[in-house]
Amino acid sequence: MATLFERIIAHELPATIVYQDERVTAFRDIHPRAPVHILIVPAKVIPTANDIADGDEALIGHMFTVARDLAKREGIAADGYRLIMNCNAHGGQEVYHLHLHLLGGKPLGPMVSV
Ligand code: AMP
Repeated sequence: MATLFERIIAHELPATIVYQDERVTAFRDIHPRAPVHILIVPAKVIPTANDIADGDEALIGHMFTVARDLAKREGIAADGYRLIMNCNAHGGQEVYHLHLHLLGGKPLGPMVSV
């Protein structure tokens, strides 16, 4: 069965897509935790960071260059932003299709609240 994010990438579910190429899709998080909250998702289904293979290095790098370019386009590059990848239960991962969160647009406070 297709993951939620695969269905967004295939335009089967609605989302505000801000960037798409053959390797990654970026769309706005449905429950934004900051004025800018974008998810950068590979077309390849990699469930968690634990499942990243050595051969995925270029893909993972591409996710970061897309994040960099989107931060600039969203006007948050100079003030700064946060890139997060949650993994499994202790990381708070909800969707098991790898994704990079791009958050910014306000001071984001401490890295981890406990
Ligand atoms: P994570 O906890 O790292 O797995 O993050 C999953 C993120 O996906 C959460 O921030 C959710 O708000 C977001 N999300 C879930 N469903 C959708 C959706 N249909 N469209 C956009 N974002 C979503």
